[in-house]
Amino acid sequence: MIPQFLLTLATLCLLAWILRQRLIIRRLRHLQQRQRDQDLRALAAARNERDSLLNAFPDAFLIADAHGLIQHCNQAAMALLGPSPFIDRTVLEVLRDARLATPYLECRNTGEPNAAQIHLPSEAAPGRDHSPGSGDSVWLVDAAPVLQATGAPHVRILLRDLSAEHQLEQIRKDFVANASHELRTPITLVDGYLETFLDAPEMLDERPAALRILGIMRKHTGRITRIIEDMLLISRMESGDASTLRMEDFQLTECVHDIIERLEPLIRAQNATLAVQFHDPGISLHGDRFYWTQILFNLIENALKQNLQPGLQVRILSEACGEGLRLAVVDNGIGIPAADLPFIFKRFYRVEKHHSQNQIKGTGLGLSIVKRAIEAHDGSITCHSAPGLRTSFEITLPRQATHANYPEPLADLP
Ligand code: ATP
Ligand code: MG
Repeated sequence: MIPQFLLTLATLCLLAWILRQRLIIRRLRHLQQRQRDQDLRALAAARNERDSLLNAFPDAFLIADAHGLIQHCNQAAMALLGPSPFIDRTVLEVLRDARLATPYLECRNTGEPNAAQIHLPSEAAPGRDHSPGSGDSVWLVDAAPVLQATGAPHVRILLRDLSAEHQLEQIRKDFVANASHELRTPITLVDGYLETFLDAPEMLDERPAALRILGIMRKHTGRITRIIEDMLLISRMESGDASTLRMEDFQLTECVHDIIERLEPLIRAQNATLAVQFHDPGISLHGDRFYWTQILFNLIENALKQNLQPGLQVRILSEACGEGLRLAVVDNGIGIPAADLPFIFKRFYRVEKHHSQNQIKGTGLGLSIVKRAIEAHDGSITCHSAPGLRTSFEITLPRQATHANYPEPLADLP
């Protein structure tokens, strides 16, 4: 017979052992929970770090799983592709245009990285910066597999808008092509005359003919010099260096009268009338007088030289515009066809159809210089034309470009 107290002792020991086991299990569970919490916190921190790294990229960045469903995207992608949630939507749904998805599909099919530059018409471009008619948009789409610990690899897609670089490159190419063309024409002519003289030096003895040819050569070298000077001026303005402007206060009336004096022979030869109608004769501008002379000279000269028939009227107007100023050069000449208006401020653009451009001197750089010079003064210029009736170039300037105290704004420019 086991004594009663031994049985009780054994039961107590058993109970104590069970209790201890339960305590150990609870403690283990607690430690496991703590470990899990720590792991979750570490995971969340890693995710945050990854997100902030990806969000620091200016390019749109997406990750698609093996089924082509988006699993991650950065802020740039959301800003570009719209605010609707992308997660678990297909790549094609999110990119919208199948052309943009081509590198992704290639990468998924081959398992190899794939990148391409994709040209889209502005209306098909993602994002809101591409207004219709603003030319092709160009996108770099770069897709590459992201290796997974298990299962099929995910694909990361990078989307970069190259439109601005592409446009700049296009402008540069056009500029080089146009400039070479414009320079080659007079150089070829001068070269031709020089060759003639070298082949037949006796021509130099016929003084009147020789002088006439030398005069023509001089005209063409003058044209080359003008093109080079204009190109240097444009490149100085395009350098964006504000220090290229020599800012001073000057009287606009004086500046305009100097220009009219220079153009006097042309005005008289064409029997044109010029009227200066400033709302305040004492207007003073704060700007670079050299550039303002270029601006107004080119606008007035254009009006005169494009209209060789007598009786042309040119008016130079000013009016207050809010706290700023509006200037206009208006003529009643041949005008500019509506189809040409969007292009006249582009370098080397000249309206060919209605104007006998062979007789009218010019390189087509004048208005692009005008536009850049006005923009350098924080102003803007527009052109309206009703051919044969009224062609006006209107300049709007902000307050800081003007110094006079203007009266209340006038009605629309007459
Ligand atoms: P440049 O000024 O370099 O000597 P340009 O006068 O031909 O050459 P812009 O001043 O840039 O070049 O003008 C571009 C074109 O716009 C002109 O060739 C002309 O066809 C047209 N144009 C400009 N102003 C007028 C105007 N007042 N009336 C009619 N056509 C104009
Ligand atoms: Mg001109």
